[in-house]
Amino acid sequence: MNDTVTIEIDEGSGFCFGVVTAIDKAEAALSQDAELYCLGDIVHNSDEVKRLADKGMTTITHDDLENLHDVRVLLRAHGEPPSTYAVARRNGISIIDATCPVVLRLQRRIKESYREGVAAGRQIVIYGKPGHAEVNGLVGQTDGNAIVVQGVADLDKIDFSRDVDLYSQTTMSLSGFKDMISEIAQRMTPDATFRSFDTICRQVANRVDSLRRFAAEHDLVLFVSGKKSSNGKFLYSECLGVNKSTRLISDENDIEAGWLDGVRRIGICGATSTPRWLMERVREHVGSMLEHDAC
Ligand code: SF4
Repeated sequence: MNDTVTIEIDEGSGFCFGVVTAIDKAEAALSQDAELYCLGDIVHNSDEVKRLADKGMTTITHDDLENLHDVRVLLRAHGEPPSTYAVARRNGISIIDATCPVVLRLQRRIKESYREGVAAGRQIVIYGKPGHAEVNGLVGQTDGNAIVVQGVADLDKIDFSRDVDLYSQTTMSLSGFKDMISEIAQRMTPDATFRSFDTICRQVANRVDSLRRFAAEHDLVLFVSGKKSSNGKFLYSECLGVNKSTRLISDENDIEAGWLDGVRRIGICGATSTPRWLMERVREHVGSMLEHDAC
C-alpha cells in the first residue's frame, strides 16, 4: 500500500446505546431459543439485520404480527404504539421490549401531555418524519391525534388559536427544531399557550460537531450507512456540508476505484445504525484497493 495514504475510522461513529441494547437483547433471546421475531428492521442496516437473521431472527411487519400466535417478538429501539401491545396480548405473543429508554420517556411525556390537555383542546405537535416507526409510536400515545410536522409547509395543519405542545422525534436536527419553534411562536394568537420541549437525543445531536470536524480533516470521506436510516441521511448531509468529497456507501462494494485517485487522507464514519465491524471491513477493503493500485 502507498504509505502516504492514511485511513481512519471516526471513534464517535457507530451504534448509539439504544441500538446496542436492542441488539444485546436480541442476542440474549437467540441464545435461549433460536426462534425469535423482530418487528421491523432492528437497525436500518441490512448487514447487521442479515447477521442476526443468520442466527435465527426473522424480521416481520405489522401485518405479519396479526397472524402470529404464541411466539416471541422483539420490539426495536424506535418503540411502538399501544396498538402493537394490544395485538401481542390478543395473540399470546410474548414481547421482548427493546424500546430505547429515551424514546420510552418521550412516549410517556407525550401521553401525559395529551391526557392533561385534550379536554381543553390542546394540540400535540411532533416535529418528525411522517410514517417513521418512532413517530408512529409517539402518535399512538395520543390516540392518533398528534399533528406531525416535518417542515414549515406542514404548519398549516395547526390551529394557532388553540394551545400547542411541541415535541420532536429524537433524531431530528436541533436547528430544524429551533426553526419550528420560532415559526409557531410567531403565528400563535395571544390567548393560546405555546410550549416546546426539546426531546432531541444527544446521542445523535452531540455527534454533529465532532463528525463535521472529522469530515473536514479528510480528502475523502466514506460515510457508511443503510439507505433507509433517517439518522444516516442527516449525518451524511452534515458531512457533505463541510466536505464535498463525502460518499454515502452501504458497504465496501459501493466504493469506486476512481474515488481513491490522489487522496492522502481517507476518513470512514457512519450513522448511529452503522456497525463498527462494517466500518472496519470498509477500511480493510480500501487498504487492499490501494495496495492493488500500487502494484
Ligand atoms: S438515537 Fe438516541 S433515542 Fe434513538 S435509539 Fe439511539 S439512544 Fe435511543
